[in-house]
Amino acid sequence: MHELSLAQGVIQLLEDQAATGHFQRITHVWLDVGALACVELSSLQFGLEVARRGTVASDAQFHIDIVPAQGWCFACNTAFRAEQHALPCPHCGSWEIQIDKGNAMRVREMEVE
Ligand SMILES: [Zn+2]
Repeated sequence: MHELSLAQGVIQLLEDQAATGHFQRITHVWLDVGALACVELSSLQFGLEVARRGTVASDAQFHIDIVPAQGWCFACNTAFRAEQHALPCPHCGSWEIQIDKGNAMRVREMEVE
């Protein structure tokens, strides 16, 4: 279950931010999860519940948004919306593609006190 380590990574990042930004409490966190990140949301939420205990984010509210993935085709130089992995370019069928976004997770914004 990699959601737990993802959650721990997020909490670690928040702790680091708190240390450098000198704040004690995080009230809200907005997370962007790529549609292709293979993250199961309920597992991620559970992971966050566990990982945040005793940290600056112990009573933070997490808002999780799914971001669509973006593909780029080198054959026809077109951007496309990538719904899943291992699919060719929807315009020309080429496999010379690259997925730019949507296969990662990041902290977009946070609110602190
Ligand atoms: Zn193409």
